[in-house]
Amino acid sequence: MNLLLFGGILITSEIDFSQFFCWNKDCTDYGIKNQGNIVLKERYGKNNHALFKCKTCKKCFSETKGTIFFELNTPDEEVLRTIAMLPEKGSIRGVARATGHSKDTICRWLEIAGTHAEEVTTYFLKNLNLTRVEVDEIWSYIKKSKKM
Ligand SMILES: [Zn+2]
Repeated sequence: MNLLLFGGILITSEIDFSQFFCWNKDCTDYGIKNQGNIVLKERYGKNNHALFKCKTCKKCFSETKGTIFFELNTPDEEVLRTIAMLPEKGSIRGVARATGHSKDTICRWLEIAGTHAEEVTTYFLKNLNLTRVEVDEIWSYIKKSKKM
């Protein structure tokens, strides 16, 4: 699975630039991989995250941007908001009905979320402003769903 390999690349200092693209919607290279426009600007933080720069538009962005569900065509926000509905809806079926995403799709997202637990938790807390208790609840549903 590419995603796991991709995560492995992130941990090491080897960066596969062909995997990244510019996130600036106004940039001519927006969303296109392998344009040679992405360069490493610096590393930062205790996790030694890479900060990239797009040579085309000169904007910078973090390697963690949008990388949780990198292989999917659905934005992280949509995926994680969907997952966050689990405790409220009570089941994958319930979430599927409420969002229009298929049960299989949601199951796949849960699987991917499980391999990016730390990023997903951070996203829930920071971007969706959920509490620790709410996030724990979501995780217990994700774990339960694996047994279903
Ligand atoms: Zn750009």
